[in-house]
Amino acid sequence: MSEPTLNDARSSALYAEALRVLPGGVNSPVRAMRAIGRDPIFVARGEGPEIVDADGNRYVDYVCSWGPLIHGHAHPQVVAAVGEAAARGTSFGAPTAGEVELAEEVVARFASVEMVRMTSSGTEASMSALRLARAATGRETILKFSGAYHGHVDGLLAEAGSGLATQGIPASPGVPAAATAATVIVPWNDPDALLAATEAHELAAIVAEPYPANMGLVPPADGFLELLRARADATGALLVLDEVITGFRVARGGAQERAGVRADLTIMGKVLGGGVPAAAYAGPRALMERIAPAGDVYQAGTLSGNPLAVAAGLATLRLLDDDAYARLGATTERLAAGLHDAAASAGRAVQVVSVPGLLTVFFSADPVRDYAGAVACDRDAHAAWCRALLKRGVYPPPSQFEAWFPSLAHDDDAIERTLAAAAAAFAEVGP
Ligand SMILES: *Cc1c(COP(=O)(O)O)cnc(C)c1O
Repeated sequence: MSEPTLNDARSSALYAEALRVLPGGVNSPVRAMRAIGRDPIFVARGEGPEIVDADGNRYVDYVCSWGPLIHGHAHPQVVAAVGEAAARGTSFGAPTAGEVELAEEVVARFASVEMVRMTSSGTEASMSALRLARAATGRETILKFSGAYHGHVDGLLAEAGSGLATQGIPASPGVPAAATAATVIVPWNDPDALLAATEAHELAAIVAEPYPANMGLVPPADGFLELLRARADATGALLVLDEVITGFRVARGGAQERAGVRADLTIMGKVLGGGVPAAAYAGPRALMERIAPAGDVYQAGTLSGNPLAVAAGLATLRLLDDDAYARLGATTERLAAGLHDAAASAGRAVQVVSVPGLLTVFFSADPVRDYAGAVACDRDAHAAWCRALLKRGVYPPPSQFEAWFPSLAHDDDAIERTLAAAAAAFAEVGP
């Protein structure tokens, strides 16, 4: 039997054109697919669980815009809400009723949240939450975990040096050393390193993705989130949970509800905007009222709380009832179990890690507990598997350091097609 091939002539032509006017041909690096050794695929449209590319190829999509599209592509209620909002005017620079409704919906879902400030991107929300944490504590140093991503904020674009609890070093040219000098980096799931760092530094905040999904999905070890809460309480630091991915996804009230751990400040995005740019930071009134114009901490945004984003976000959240979370959990479990079996049949050692709505297939014989474990995976084999999936009509996140985003649009048929493609792709890659 001959291997399938992918006709990507139109995508290739668009990519060649794009390279002349967009750095690397894309507006965000991971889209370029360099980590899996191929050129990007240009998307023409999306329908439910599928995308259709510029050459007319169809794929079951597990990127789903990297998280926002929890109802899949072009959900009729979300599209209608955006269209109706656009017809009333796309932006005013003055408050609208929808912003209040969306904030009320967020407050109703998150036990730790009384007030919400919207921004246009998760990066902005992270940056602003740190400013607020620094103002509220009168301290400057921030602790983050290696492999965690909180947007491309200067101070958080930091890498760990050697040693257990190290001062950050810039992870990109252009980030001033001064910006990362106030960042301390600790390995995820390492209680000793966390204790040492929280003793050695007067921290404004401990910032964490509660279920980190930007090094692939690496859930917290038992008790680790509780330890973050306890260390923040013991040292006067704020616990800032970045729920840009997990919020409204892993449970109605995000990772905090699922894990039973309360944040002082929560960063949100992705699902919150339903596929239109929106993000937020949120927390108790006493902290949030430090933000201008209620308080003295300045932060603003021309398009913050944009009516189209608010409409998409509200329509998205209103569809997310208990039944939706039960279905998303069941879909994710079925996908995880099927991918595990498909790998086993091909004799390929993998770790399939999942929580409701998120999943990663690590090409590793050992469980992955932290960023070092993710880096140690067989990324060449993972890349080959991803290329093999694309040829068979499945579009995975094109990097070992990302999570799959199954959506509520991924029905039995989509999952069956995915698992058939996955089995064939594992067979092609071999053990
Ligand atoms: C995507 C992401 C961000 C950044 O959000 P943008 O809207 O891309 O700026 C921040 N934190 C986490 C956990 C994310 O996954």
